[in-house]
Amino acid sequence: MEKSYLESMPDEKGFFGTYGGAFIPPELEKPFADINAAYDEISKSFDFIHELAKIRKYYQGRPTPISYAKNLSNFCGGGQIYLKREDLNHTGAHKLNHCIAEALLAKHLGKKKLIAETGAGQHGVALATAAAYFGLECEIHMGEVDIKKEYPNVLRMKILGAKVVPVSFGERTLKEAVDSAFGAYIEDSENTLFAIGSVVGPHPYPKMIRDFQRVVGIEAREQILEMTGKLPDSIVACVGGGSNAMGIFSGFIDDPCKLHGVEPTGKGTKLGEHAASLTYGKEGIMHGFNSIMLQDEEGNPASVHCVASGLDYPSVGPEHAHLKTIGRTIVGTANDEEAIDAFYKVSRLEGIIPALETAHAIAYSMKLAKENPKEMILVNFSGRGDKDIDFVTENYEIPKI
Ligand SMILES: *Cc1c(COP(=O)(O)O)cnc(C)c1O
Repeated sequence: MEKSYLESMPDEKGFFGTYGGAFIPPELEKPFADINAAYDEISKSFDFIHELAKIRKYYQGRPTPISYAKNLSNFCGGGQIYLKREDLNHTGAHKLNHCIAEALLAKHLGKKKLIAETGAGQHGVALATAAAYFGLECEIHMGEVDIKKEYPNVLRMKILGAKVVPVSFGERTLKEAVDSAFGAYIEDSENTLFAIGSVVGPHPYPKMIRDFQRVVGIEAREQILEMTGKLPDSIVACVGGGSNAMGIFSGFIDDPCKLHGVEPTGKGTKLGEHAASLTYGKEGIMHGFNSIMLQDEEGNPASVHCVASGLDYPSVGPEHAHLKTIGRTIVGTANDEEAIDAFYKVSRLEGIIPALETAHAIAYSMKLAKENPKEMILVNFSGRGDKDIDFVTENYEIPKI
């Protein structure tokens, strides 16, 4: 029998077509091979799957519901918008889905510690939560600039028992935090698992994180069929690294549904003004994998801008590059202004404050619903916006009724 898409992608070397792979220093080859072998084993293990299912149900609060956004749909005057409510997942976003699974994998491998980088601190908080749950040590590397900007998340990580390591070289943001975390991991790969925060990085992470997030798509497919008796015409998700998008897409990949990944076009089309890697980037290797990325003249990762710090990444998971190249996904965009407008609209009309990342997916869905009156649209509502209210209200006035 022919293999399904998910069984055949990626290949054994971690390639999705020409994208992906593992471009790592020799000293990391052995630890990454071990992780790959362990994942291969546990992904088929009844005990692992059963334990993960139990935690998802009794600790995370899954399944998360789907809500029909009636008022928002009426406002758009056309298509019907449904929201898969990852904001109701414990810690308020989809990230805990893969962090819990990575921590369980670390336990299985006999590791004592989780290590990772964080930009805005969202991945750090989710990982610190998973580490606390499993009684693992947790070390989060974070640029000094980000520590200042995202201080509430630094406090959350510390309250949860994680050690936050300030990174004081270079631009002191995410890119240097990745280098710092990798360095610390190389020193102690024996006792540590490197816990990447999206469908990025060297093989097997893009595959592993996709599989861990797939629960979103599996639940959503069942729920929407039960609610409406049919499949959505379109599935929409925002794309930073691409984990929440791959999570929901993978549940519908063999169905005749259009899959839209929404990238942030920030405040303009010039390099440095946006983080729309698939829209404006080209093929290149960074952080250990080949994908489509935004590069400066020397071929280094470009600086990027987006009002949502979780979408602020100059590349994208290799599977997104592949799916775009073969024409299976549609790359959409939303800029800062549209995201802010959607942030206030969905809050006011539905009583749900979205994360600014999620607001990009909502903004695009609103455009889609206006243009396609018959369309049924399912949006992955990746997270709640409590973390963003200070920034938004300080910079953009609350609209009058
Ligand atoms: C981190 C984050 C994202 C972006 O990450 P992906 O890997 O692209 O999903 C999107 N939404 C929320 C709420 C996030 O915290």
